[in-house]
Amino acid sequence: MNYEIVIGLETHVELDTQSKIFCSCGGHSSPKEPNDCVCPACSGMPGMLPVMNKHVVELAVTAGLMLNCEISRYTTFDKKNYYYPDLPCAYQITQLNHPICTNGCVSLQTSQGNRDIRIKQIHMEEDAGKLVHEGKHSYVDFNRTSVPLIEIVTQPDFHSAEEVLLYLNKLKSMFRSGGISECEEGAMRCDVNISVRPEGSEEFGVRTEIKNMSSFDAIERAIRYESQRHMDALEFGTEELVQETRRFDDVSGKTFAMRNKETEADYRYFPDANIMPIIIDDEWLEQIKATKPVAVDEKADAYREAGISEKEIEMLIHNNKLSKLLDDVIALGCGAKDAATWILTDCAGVLRKDGKSLSNLSINAEKLAAIIKLVDSGSINRNAGKKILIAVVEKDVDPVTYCKENGLDRKVDASAIESIIDKVINENPRALEDYKNGKEKAKQALFGACMKELKGAGNPAVIKELLESKLNNA
Ligand code: ADP
Ligand code: MG
Ligand code: ZN
Repeated sequence: MNYEIVIGLETHVELDTQSKIFCSCGGHSSPKEPNDCVCPACSGMPGMLPVMNKHVVELAVTAGLMLNCEISRYTTFDKKNYYYPDLPCAYQITQLNHPICTNGCVSLQTSQGNRDIRIKQIHMEEDAGKLVHEGKHSYVDFNRTSVPLIEIVTQPDFHSAEEVLLYLNKLKSMFRSGGISECEEGAMRCDVNISVRPEGSEEFGVRTEIKNMSSFDAIERAIRYESQRHMDALEFGTEELVQETRRFDDVSGKTFAMRNKETEADYRYFPDANIMPIIIDDEWLEQIKATKPVAVDEKADAYREAGISEKEIEMLIHNNKLSKLLDDVIALGCGAKDAATWILTDCAGVLRKDGKSLSNLSINAEKLAAIIKLVDSGSINRNAGKKILIAVVEKDVDPVTYCKENGLDRKVDASAIESIIDKVINENPRALEDYKNGKEKAKQALFGACMKELKGAGNPAVIKELLESKLNNA
């Protein structure tokens, strides 16, 4: 029999905020050593009260807008109770009853055509800490405790690993370009719910949930393994499927049962009376909308239209910092295609020399634009531009000053050019003779000699013209 795979995803994304969700400890990119970023509130000391981080709400709403969701104007937090050593309060603050965003939709361009994935909801919650096991001992690190997360829950609308990966990559690009999260390894974690049913059937099969996967490669392998396990169970009766939570083992490539699936009642959810309901009024929503970045697809289209190659678009779209740099340089009056090359090829080349990559690039958009303009205007040649670029990337010099101080400027005065041309003609009587006898090539050689003397300075067109008139009058 043919089977259809049915998948629903719950994706947790750590938000790029300065501080945690309910206290002023630094956010997920702050900590250096274990327990660096911990205070009485996020370590669950008695009597401490949570204070909502406004930026978390704004990022969650931005994510909702990007995923075409309805934004709840009234949103509340609930306590989800369970005991685990990485959870100091013995409850997680999350949203059950009034999540911040609902009923969204993402469309995917798959090899089978367009697919729409419905988003059931997005809710805000706090992350748990981390346990570190060493030999007989286990240590607890609360740096991640209370780091803000959004959880994006889809309807069971995926039917293949390909669709799942397209979706995750799309979320990643969107969240990067929206400043929501850089989605580094570990900052985006997925629970994958899978079931299988005979093709054409309306009824869902028994579902299992594979918990907490952060590598896309593992997600793909887990889906393949788990869906095959379900199909074998249905087709050959190899085992009885039960609704449960499973874990994927990266080494064997198999999934293993962890526990029976908890139900909502197991967690004794109840409203968190310490956090006031959040009201999102028109004014605030409009403010957030106004800062919402252009959707990734639109941006890719705009780059494509400007003649930027697909490969370059791919690099830009997945990197908020680079695309912002490019946009800034374009806004300063440089051509899009040219600017993309300067960033993705020339800047990358300078960094590569020092064993670095584009992720290390920090160049001021105005300085880069100044270099590009020096080259475009013919004031300097591209090689001189590259020399300036190296100095700007490495020592943050001012491009125009550096250009002048190092004699990279082509602007030399006309009399200097003239005397050099005279000198070159005088030193090469043979070439002059040849030119007079109709050998065009001789003029090229003389021109080359002039350029060499001028060390690339001066406008080539002007030099050529002057040389020609001198030759014709000699
Ligand atoms: P729970 O409350 O048990 O976590 P939800 O209704 O919130 O269940 O669904 C959790 C996730 O499981 C959602 O992403 C949903 O799309 C997915 N899901 C639900 N039923 C199925 C199914 N039969 N097969 C695959 N995924 C499913
Ligand atoms: Mg769930
Ligand atoms: Zn804290």
